[in-house]
Amino acid sequence: MQSRNLNVDNQYLQASTPLARAVKYLLQPLLMIAVLAFWLADPGNPAAFPLAIVSVQIVLGLLERAVPARPGWLIRGRQMLLHVLLVLLLSVATVMVAGLYDELLADPLSRLRANLGLDVWPHHWPLLAQMFMVFFLSEFIWYWFHRAEHRWAIVWRLSGHGAHHSFKRLGALNFGLNHPLEMFVLVLPAALVELTFGVGIAVAGAAILGTTQASIAHANLDLNPRGIGWLFTTNTYHIHHHSAVLEESNTNYGCSAIIWDRVFGTFADSRTAEAGTGPTEPSLWEKFLMPLREPADTAIAPGERG
Ligand SMILES: [Zn+2]
Repeated sequence: MQSRNLNVDNQYLQASTPLARAVKYLLQPLLMIAVLAFWLADPGNPAAFPLAIVSVQIVLGLLERAVPARPGWLIRGRQMLLHVLLVLLLSVATVMVAGLYDELLADPLSRLRANLGLDVWPHHWPLLAQMFMVFFLSEFIWYWFHRAEHRWAIVWRLSGHGAHHSFKRLGALNFGLNHPLEMFVLVLPAALVELTFGVGIAVAGAAILGTTQASIAHANLDLNPRGIGWLFTTNTYHIHHHSAVLEESNTNYGCSAIIWDRVFGTFADSRTAEAGTGPTEPSLWEKFLMPLREPADTAIAPGERG
């Protein structure tokens, strides 16, 4: 199967209808509050994560169809079905990788905690405060992992991160369209925080907030980045990271929290003309093989530029 020149229509529509304006200013804060309230109602419920994320995806998916920012980015029919199946499959892989890290890292990291006197986690703090600590600490680690993926060709290849960037049309589902190899990177930050500090149940809330945020960050909607965008990633910022232009792609590494980009000087606030790794979108098979072979027209892979 060959790369497809999709001739993607990247035209951006500003919110102009009452629904689109309500979505622009209210959707992100309301979704964040809703998933956290849902989690706090029963913090130990293992069904909270899948229920919250499926609900978030349904809300975002319906709104993308009603008031898309870029109508040319909407996908339908068999391709939509394929993406849903891939995200479900990759979500199972994520759970398995998390279990593997638990198996491999729990003992050594709890010994490290004891030896280095890292038994400092404030378990007596309100659960919400603990949750935000896990969220921002995990995002700090992810920021540097992600920056390394874009800095060094070997890390880019081994993580398969190019596959996530190769989509020319983005939507909320793209949060989960990652190379299977990247699951090992995506799950690691929260696992390190959880197992190093012996956090407990607050990790579940951080996972729900982080995945909700990653879903919103890819959404094909006109969302307001002001105010909320001081701490949290908005889709304006993250879609800029998905730009097909190298200098634009090397910004905004925080997929859920943007604060670390502001602290470490990689923040950019600008509209994005075109997404992807280059002018064409690789086929599914070519995406899968990206750790071995970079598409010929890539413009954003580290070390591949001429
Ligand atoms: Zn990236």
